[in-house]
Order: sequence, then C-alpha cells, then structure tokens
Amino acid sequence: MMDGSLLTATRTTCPYCGVGCGILATPDGPVRGDPAHPANQGRLCSKGAALGETTGLEGRLLHPMVNGKRASWDAALDATAEGFRRALAEHGPDGVALYVSGQLLTEDYYAANKFTKGFLGTGNIDSNSRLCMASAVAGHRRAFGEDLVPGTYEDLERADLLILVGSNLAWCHPVLHQRILAAKALRPMMRIVVVDPRRTASCEGADLHLALRPGSDVALFAGLLEHLARAGFAVPDAIRQSLDVPALTGLDTAQLAIFQEWFTRTERVVTLWSQGTNQSSSGTDKANAIINCHLATGRIGRPGMGPFSVTGQPNAMGGREVGALANMLAGHLDADKPEEVSALRAFWKAPNLATKPGLKAVELFRAAEAGRIGALWVMATNPAVSLPDSAQVRRALRRIPTLILSDCHAGSDTAEHAQILLPALGWGEKDGTVTNSERVISRQRGFLPAPGEAKPDWWIIAQVARRLGWGAQFAWPNAAAIFREHAAVTELARDRADALSSGRESPGQDPRPAPRVFDLGGLADLTDAEYAALPPTQWPVPRRGARGGRITPPVQRLVPTPFRLPEHSGAMILMTGRLRDQWHTMTRTGRVPRLMQHAPEPVLSLNPADAADLIEGALVRVVSAWGEAVLRLALDPAIPRGACFAPMHWTDQLAPRARINAAVTPATDPISGQPELKHTPVTLTPFAARWHGFLLCRQPLGARLGDWCALAPAAPGVFRHEIAGSDAAPFEALVEALGEGAPTLALRAEATGEHRAAWLRDGRLIAALFLGPDHVLPPREWLISLFAEARIGSAARHALLAGLLPDGPPPSPTLCACHGVSAATIRAAIAAGADDVAAIGAATCAGTGCGSCKPELTALLALAPA
Ligand code: SF4
Repeated sequence: MMDGSLLTATRTTCPYCGVGCGILATPDGPVRGDPAHPANQGRLCSKGAALGETTGLEGRLLHPMVNGKRASWDAALDATAEGFRRALAEHGPDGVALYVSGQLLTEDYYAANKFTKGFLGTGNIDSNSRLCMASAVAGHRRAFGEDLVPGTYEDLERADLLILVGSNLAWCHPVLHQRILAAKALRPMMRIVVVDPRRTASCEGADLHLALRPGSDVALFAGLLEHLARAGFAVPDAIRQSLDVPALTGLDTAQLAIFQEWFTRTERVVTLWSQGTNQSSSGTDKANAIINCHLATGRIGRPGMGPFSVTGQPNAMGGREVGALANMLAGHLDADKPEEVSALRAFWKAPNLATKPGLKAVELFRAAEAGRIGALWVMATNPAVSLPDSAQVRRALRRIPTLILSDCHAGSDTAEHAQILLPALGWGEKDGTVTNSERVISRQRGFLPAPGEAKPDWWIIAQVARRLGWGAQFAWPNAAAIFREHAAVTELARDRADALSSGRESPGQDPRPAPRVFDLGGLADLTDAEYAALPPTQWPVPRRGARGGRITPPVQRLVPTPFRLPEHSGAMILMTGRLRDQWHTMTRTGRVPRLMQHAPEPVLSLNPADAADLIEGALVRVVSAWGEAVLRLALDPAIPRGACFAPMHWTDQLAPRARINAAVTPATDPISGQPELKHTPVTLTPFAARWHGFLLCRQPLGARLGDWCALAPAAPGVFRHEIAGSDAAPFEALVEALGEGAPTLALRAEATGEHRAAWLRDGRLIAALFLGPDHVLPPREWLISLFAEARIGSAARHALLAGLLPDGPPPSPTLCACHGVSAATIRAAIAAGADDVAAIGAATCAGTGCGSCKPELTALLALAPA
C-alpha cells in the first residue's frame, strides 16, 4: 500500500550513474526508489538513497559573476557573447569551444550542440563522456554503423553466462548488480565471470575471476574468437589472430580453457563492459574484440544475449543521441556523410554548420595551452580535476582569454580559473530528460524552487545565441519544445528508411541520409502535457512499427583488432577508478557524512608483496612523468602484483595533494580519443613527513592546513582534517586557525613530539587536535562519536586525551553506509553465528538498506573460519 507522501512525490531520475534509476522525491523528505521505474523497480544504491541529503544550497553558485564580482544576468550574458565574438574574430570558428557533461539533460545537451556545430560553426564541442564511454561509441559505430546498445537490462537477468569486463558493477552500477545477483539467486545455474586485474566487490558471488594483466583484454577476446573459430563458428581469416594468450594475459591455461568452453557452449551470453575497458589506449579495439565474439556466434539481438556497454554518467547516452561529442552530429547523423550534413543544415537553417569533426577533450586542452582557443564554455563539469595530466589542463585554463563556466557549484577547481560564472539549475530543480544505458528515456523533473538566480542550461545557451544574432533558431519556450525538435532531427534519417522499405526508392538513389535505428519520430509531436507526463520510454520510438525492446543491429561487422602491448609494460602501473559511495569530484556526495565513512581519506591500494619499504597507513608519493599525488597507503591482496589503484574523486577543495589525475598519463585511444586512465607507469616512494595529525571540529577549515591535508565531513556538523607536514609541527598555527582560543584540555610531550588538545564548551566537545611524529595516531571513529555527547564526563576526558577507548569493540571502518554498521560489528555478528548475508542483516541491519554493501558482507563471510 502506498503512503501519502508517495502519492504526492515527484517522479524523477537519479543524477548519478548510467543505470538511470527512477526516484520518488519530495521537497523535504528522503528520496525513495520508484517501484514503477523499469531500471530499478524501487531499488536505490547508497548514493541514490542519500540524494535527499544533498539538495541544500551549501556551496551553490546563486548569481552570475564576472571577473570575481556579482553581475546581472544581462551583463554576464553580454560578456559571454562578447567573448565568443572576439574569439571568432581573432581565431575563426576553430578558436572557440564548449566542454560539456553527462550531467546535462538531453535538452541542454541538444541546445549546446546546436549552438556549437550549427551556429558557432565548429565541431569543437566535447563532453566529459569522452572520459567515460567514447571507446564503446567508436566500437559500436565500427561494428553496427551506428552507436547502438542492442540489449536491455532484462537480458542481463536472462543470460546463462554473464561476463563483466573492466566493470566493478557492484560499486559503480550497484542497482544493476543487485538485479543480476537476484536473478542468479533464482537461477543458480546462471554463471558470472569477472574479467578484471583487481579482485573487486563484483567478484563476490561470481563463478570465475580472470585477473588478467592490465591492458590485455584484446588478447583474451581474440583468443576466445580463435577458440570459437576452431569450434566451428565462421570467423573471417582477416579477423583471426594467433596469440600466446596465457603469456599476454598472465592467465593460466586451465582458467582460460574454462572461460572459452563456457562461452562456446552457452547460447545465452551477455558480455557487459564499462570504464575499465573503455578508459584505455586500446579501448575501441577492446570493445570490438568483445562484439566480434558475439557477432561470430550470432549471440546478439535475442533474449539473454549480446554485447552490452554500460555508461558511467546519468545522461552519457543522451549526449550521444544529440551528438554532443566532437566527432558526431545530432540524431546519430554522420559528419562524414555530406547528405546527412546537408539535411541537418537545412533543418536547423544553419548555413555555417560545422563540416568537420572538432577537437576531442585531450586535444582541446592542448590547443588551449598552445593559445589556439580564444573562448571556452565549460558546462557542469570540472576538467581541472577530472582530465588526465591535470597540471597541463590548469595551464590551458589559465591561457584561455574568455573562460566561461555554467555550473551549480561555486567553488570547483575549474571555477577558480573562469572569468564568467553562470549559475545553472541542479538536480531537483531542472526539467528535462535523460537516457540510461538500456536506451530508456526518463524524465528528470523539478520538485524544488530555483535557488537564487539559477537558470536552466538551455535557457542560458539560448540567451547567448540571441545576443550573437541567432535568436530565431533558439526561441524555445520550454524544454518540451527542445525535446520535440530533437525528436524531429532523428527523423531526418528515418524518412529514407521508410522510402526504402516501401520500395518507393532503391538504395543509393536518394541523397537523403542513410537509415538509422535511433528514431524518436513517435515523440516529435508530444504536447507539453504529454511531455510533462512522459513515462520511461525505450527507443527506438518510430511513428510506425515496433518500439523499444532489444535491437538486432541491421549492420553487423566483425572488425580486426590487432593486439598492441600497452606502452610501459613492466613498470608499476597506476589504475584509477571510483569508490562505492562517491560520485565524480564529490561536489555532491562529498557533503554527506555517511557516504564519506566508507572511505574518508584518499587511499592508494597496493599488493602487500610490492610494498618494499612502504608502510601501510603512512603517506605515499605516486610519481609519474606528468606529476605526482600523495595518498594514504593501504595494502590489499586484491590488487595484482605490479599495479596499484587510486580513486579519482579528490579535488583541491578536499585534498589538493591527492588529486590523482595530476599523475595520470594523457595518452589516448587513437580512434575514440578516450584517455588511458588505467595504465600510467609510476614509481612509489614514502612521503617524507616530519609530523602527522588530525583535527576534528565543528566547522570545515579547508584543505590547506599542512603540506598534505584531506578534509571530510565525519558526522553531521563534525569535520575531519587529516594533516601531515615536512616542517615543524604547527600546533600553535592550527590552534589559531581553529579560532576557539586556548584548549580546555592539553597534553604536550616534547620528547616524543606529541601534542593533544581538546576544546569543550558547556561540557560538549567542540574540537580535538592530535599531532604526532608518525602516522600512528589514535582511532578517529570513537573521538568523532564523542561530538554527539551532550556532556563529556571525566572518564571520557581522560580517555580523550589518551586517545584510547574506555571500553567496547575496537573501532573499524563503516561498511554499511545506510545504517552506519562497522566492519567490527559485522565480524562480531559472524562470530556469533550469522552465516549468510540475511543473518548478518537480521543481527546488525547491515545490508538491509540499499544493499550496496552486500558484496563486502559476502567477502567477510568468506574470511570467517568454517
Ligand atoms: Fe543512482 Fe545508484 Fe541507481 Fe546509479 S545505481 S542510478 S547511482 S541509485
């Protein structure tokens, strides 16, 4: 039965990953999973479930700013238009650019693409989706002639063999992973294979883990294709490769034989891949090596089978649909086909439509550093952090004469370099559509008022276009009008498809575009009211004929994928990726204490056998040819020998020395232009700190309290600053920064270099500062819990200064973010007899919320003595 708040809730969509979960939201209540949404059927992961805690206005950009001063919208839009005018006059169309984001709604994306390619006359619009799935797009286009994901989420559940390649689905697409595990629980004969150098949370519950050498995926799938050919499947000689697969992948022959036999003998196979595959200098070949195996066996377009790329971002797919990548046109039209360019030019009434591809992300920032970009408009993304070789990107941002940023957040690392800041609506405020990884278009609806002077991105673009003389082509009254226009663009190709299938024309006779599967013609005439009420809708949606469902691609090409050894094989290899409870540069998730508890500090994970003189818990420098980062070291046997792993989330705002992209190679895939974020050669050395410490207090003091500093919300109204430095310990300076006067309790041991201090007000703990000569410091979790006490008693005061727990279990990291259950509590439950995930849930509540921690519970169960 539905409660009252569910009936009044707004149906919208999660703004995080490409699963695209439906959400029921109210202005002042927690969000809930939408039981009616096909992607999640009511489920949410830890990030989605915490959305209600992220809608506050803290850190928001609320007013336009020009050169550091508040400005009116008119003044800021005039300055933006003038910046573009100047850059066009000085450099021509190739000297202006937009760098946009998979966070944009499809309508915003469409407006940005039309503005850039249609009217600025340049292909220079690229998206941070370039970092996410450009290799999958390129692979699809090579194999299918169009960017098509043939399968549906239901196929993942109906597969008898599911292969996850370069995808820690349990952390990065948790609801999809939960759906798969639920399907496997119902059909235990379903097999799951994980192909990943790391033993990730996704390996829990899998039947086989292939811990292949980083970068060797093409060899694995080329070897599989060869096995399929020998088993009788038709594989053209031009595609076949004779490779020493065990030597190249590092996998033993028995494991390879099992994998190859399972694939060969199982009809219903889905191979799912994501960023671990795409973020590679051979990412496109990896995608095609996977697709080749499905095409050779005909396992595509039927229930429970097919290659399946999942996107990282909530609307990466929408960006692909509108062509907001430098080498694509709107509506899956092709910039290489003159007839398609002509059709779009006529439709948009855009005589200056770009006729050649623009600069891809890494190329764009190189051009900017070389002084070739006069105006750059960044939308809803943070390239100063998220792009590789970030020192180069920051040099480029400083060099651009007019840098515009439209965003929700005021203080991002990129905002520091922008002359013009334009406040955009955020999640919960804006209105439009997103498309998830299975081609389902869902509405994101606003349920909160627009804060300050924030405006929709499409409105901002239209206003600038009007100032540049193109107002008639951008005169949309609302997002619904943009969606209708976007849907109509997809029909530019469909016209000819219909003519061909009706026999009115023969192929090659018509100069109009070749047919595309992507077709939203059936939505091109939606009324505003129908758009407002649009339910989740899977494309294609033609005016006539079958809609949605799985697709059998009309074009299917096997593509040669010659194996290339990754550069720098043999060095210590840095891989980067995501954490379970964080999203991108943490502008949203980094504000939620319970999401920070799973990983409160930036940590480098390394196999214990590679540690040499590095000490667990100490700080380690990760140094490459491009830069360096400093992170806390965790030894983890799940990391393969010769590699290390670092999360990509930390920024200048939270841990300036721990921005891992400062060290990441700018190498890219030659076809997709996607950066190689999984294979940077590095050296690891100890960070020479003379002191370490932490400061817990009731207000954030920034992330520059020492040579190394990491800031995190530790509990509601409590902030944790982890600090280290190479000069003398700055006890007095930290006391001054705190601004609470002399400490209530203090202990100073000159001989050992230890300083401990606590500030109490009316018996409540206000702050605690601990400094010491090394990284071994008192546990933080218990100290943090003291901030919730109404009064600190004398026993606790002594324990506080001693940094020792008075009694109780030793502190340990939080595993279940929903219920704040620590690993120690879960271990205690297992020791007391809980022998499966359900029993742990009954004893501790862990795993009974969003379920994102279930793989970690399974891992703890596996470690328990029989
Ligand atoms: Fe959002 Fe989690 Fe669903 Fe992804 S899996 S869309 S992050 S709730």
